[in-house]
Amino acid sequence: MSILPKMIFLFLNIPIIRSIQRFKNWNKDLSKFIWGGKKPRIKRTHLIDEKKRGGLGLPNLQLYHDACGLTWIKDWATLKKTLKILTLEGADLRSGWHAYLWYDKKSIEKNFGNHFIRSSLMKIWDKYKRRFHLKTPLWISPLEACERKELGRDNWPRYKDILIRTNNNYQIKSQEDVSKHFTNIGWFQYIQLKEYYTKDKKLGFEDQEGYWEMIMKLEKKVISKIYKKLLEWETETDLIKECMSKWAKNLGKSIQLAEWEKCWNTRLKHTYAMDLKENWIKIFYRWYWTPQKMAKFNKNASNKCWKCGVEVGTFYHCWWTCKKVKVYWKEVHWRIQKMLQIRIDLNPKYFLLGMLDIDKDRNKEVLFNYLTTAARMNLAKFWKDKEIPEIRVYAPTTEAEEETKS
Ligand SMILES: [Zn+2]
Repeated sequence: MSILPKMIFLFLNIPIIRSIQRFKNWNKDLSKFIWGGKKPRIKRTHLIDEKKRGGLGLPNLQLYHDACGLTWIKDWATLKKTLKILTLEGADLRSGWHAYLWYDKKSIEKNFGNHFIRSSLMKIWDKYKRRFHLKTPLWISPLEACERKELGRDNWPRYKDILIRTNNNYQIKSQEDVSKHFTNIGWFQYIQLKEYYTKDKKLGFEDQEGYWEMIMKLEKKVISKIYKKLLEWETETDLIKECMSKWAKNLGKSIQLAEWEKCWNTRLKHTYAMDLKENWIKIFYRWYWTPQKMAKFNKNASNKCWKCGVEVGTFYHCWWTCKKVKVYWKEVHWRIQKMLQIRIDLNPKYFLLGMLDIDKDRNKEVLFNYLTTAARMNLAKFWKDKEIPEIRVYAPTTEAEEETKS
């Protein structure tokens, strides 16, 4: 993935892509590349979702673009970037940055939007502002908003400095208290503060520091932290992926989200081998073409299972319920029990999804996952064949062992 840093460099320096169409075209090209021009078999939102939620971590360019834009906004909010640069960016502005970030000054002062980088950054901020803050955030400095030019210093009192909390209410401190820490606050500035306070009280103040405050404090990895949050919002409606409901339906009982999470966050990390991981992911997303699906596209094809030729070849039938495949799994089951010296049920949840918890024995659990993955890969190799794979390929045994079995 050496493309992403290049794109981020671009987004950081010219965060002015306003047309969604451009991202759509890029996504189309990416999709064409990923699927080799064929029909995608995994939904895009699942491809871009974070790995810890069962996604595949494909970068979402639009969100990276927005995250890069928000790093600029971060400087406007913290006011910490060298003052000169902020002055340069806003040389022609009449109000302070916070006026545009929170008080919607830009709709009155058209000058703000005439600057094409500023206006496009503000567009990004407006898109997410309400998700970060429902009430007036405590990092806002009303004085900076209205007096920026006149006072011209960087030590702005923010709401968190001038408010005290009493009985779930925020009260403004007395003028003496405020000027103790901010010596430049005279009676006039205090009146201004009070005026803003009375107005902002109507909307209310945020109770605690939120995600944006956390971002404001960050020095490193700002883009990826912002990106993570944007991605979470982007994919939140797809928390339960349809393949997950399909699996629950097949197994006849619900599967807890925690069980899935263990697969994504622990079991997949048991190995670095990509083809082992790939197998689990393909099973999870029900990636394989089945006779049933093929018959939908091709009228001449039969929808019957390739192995038994009797029943409809659904995904679950081909992997588990087919009587020919059952023979294979029984054999695998017998061998695994013998190898690991354990007794387990022949349960698809264990053998297909690897959701087996062997108490206190992590090694056995890891080994179990290796063995079942190998068994699945073996079966997948003979996916379209009439016969099930020979078990010897999978685990050769001695003659003596064969005899004890019967
Ligand atoms: Zn069958």
